[in-house]
Amino acid sequence: MKNSPKKALIIHRESVLCADGTPALCSISEEILRTKNDAGFAVNLGFFEAHGENADDNSVDDSANNSVDKSHTNTNQTAASCGALDDCDVFDGISANHLYVISLDYALSCGVIGQHGDVFLSSEYKSLQLVEYRNLVSHHSRHANELISRAIQLSLWQADHRFCSRCAAPTRKHHFEHAMVCPRCRHRAYPRVQPCIIVAITRTHPTGGQPQILLALHQRHTATGMYGLVAGFVEAGESLESAVRREVLEEVGLTIDEPRYIGSQPWPYPTNIMLGFTANWAGGEICVQPNEITDAKFFDLDKLPRIPAVGTIAHELIVNVLSAHGVDLADNQPVSQTD
Ligand SMILES: [Zn+2]
Repeated sequence: MKNSPKKALIIHRESVLCADGTPALCSISEEILRTKNDAGFAVNLGFFEAHGENADDNSVDDSANNSVDKSHTNTNQTAASCGALDDCDVFDGISANHLYVISLDYALSCGVIGQHGDVFLSSEYKSLQLVEYRNLVSHHSRHANELISRAIQLSLWQADHRFCSRCAAPTRKHHFEHAMVCPRCRHRAYPRVQPCIIVAITRTHPTGGQPQILLALHQRHTATGMYGLVAGFVEAGESLESAVRREVLEEVGLTIDEPRYIGSQPWPYPTNIMLGFTANWAGGEICVQPNEITDAKFFDLDKLPRIPAVGTIAHELIVNVLSAHGVDLADNQPVSQTD
C-alpha cells in the first residue's frame, strides 16, 4: 500500500493549503471532508501517532481515492511521500482512508510537498497556495469550517506543547486522548480554548428615533474600511457578561445594558472561541481606544458601511440585528466577500 495516494489537509498556523490559492477551490480540504464521514474525521483528528499498520491497511474503504485521477499521479513522488509519512511520528494522522492533517513545516521537511508547493498527489493540485482561514469561511459550510478550525487549533496546540511546562522534559502524545503527557512528572497538557466576546450594540437614535448599530473600524482593517464589532479576550476570573461590559467601555467608552448571548464560533487565531452577544447602549459618548480602534459610529441599519464577510460571527450578529428590525442586508450597501 506504500504506493497508494494519500490525501492531506496541510495547514500552516492559521492558513490552509488550497488549490490555486482560491478559497472556493479548496479542493484538498473539501475532498477530505467529502470522502470521510465528518464524525470520523473529527474523532480521528488529533490521533497523532503514525499508525503504520493502519497506514498500510488495505481493508479500509478506498473509494475515497477513486475521485483522484490516478493517471496524473506521480508514482515515484507519491511513493516517496507516503514513505515519509509512514515513517514519521510527528504528523497528525487520520489513518483511515489515508487522510492526514499535517503542518506545512512537516510537509516540507519530509518531502510531501516541495518548497514551491509542488505536489504530492496529482497534477490536479499543482498550484497549491496558503489561504488564510478567515478567507475560507465565506466559501464553506459552517460544519466544514469548524472541522478545519479544529485541525488548525490541534496542530498549533501540538506544536506548542512539545515540552513539559512544569519540568521541561519532552512530552509524548497520549495514546487516545487529546493530551500531551510528560513522562517524567506525569503532567498532562490539554488543548486550551481562549474565550473571546464579540458584541453588537444597538440604540435608538436620540432625536430621529430610528434603530442604529455600533460598528467600529479596527486598526487592522483601516486599509479596507471594513467596520466590525467590539470584541476582546475574556480575562481570568471574569464572567462573559463582565468581559462584554469591560471591552465596550475600554474600546468605545460606552456603557450598555445586560448583554444577551446569541451564539458562538470557533476561531483559530490562535485558539479562540468567539462568544457573540447583543446589548443596548445605556450611556456615554463614543470615545475610541486609539491603540485598537480608528473610528466607531452608530449607523442606521439601512446605511451600513462594509461589514465582515459572510461566515463570520460578526456578520451573523449584525444580520441578526437587522432582521430583528425588519431590515434586509440586500437593501443595504454591498457587503465584502472577504475579510
Ligand atoms: Zn514534566
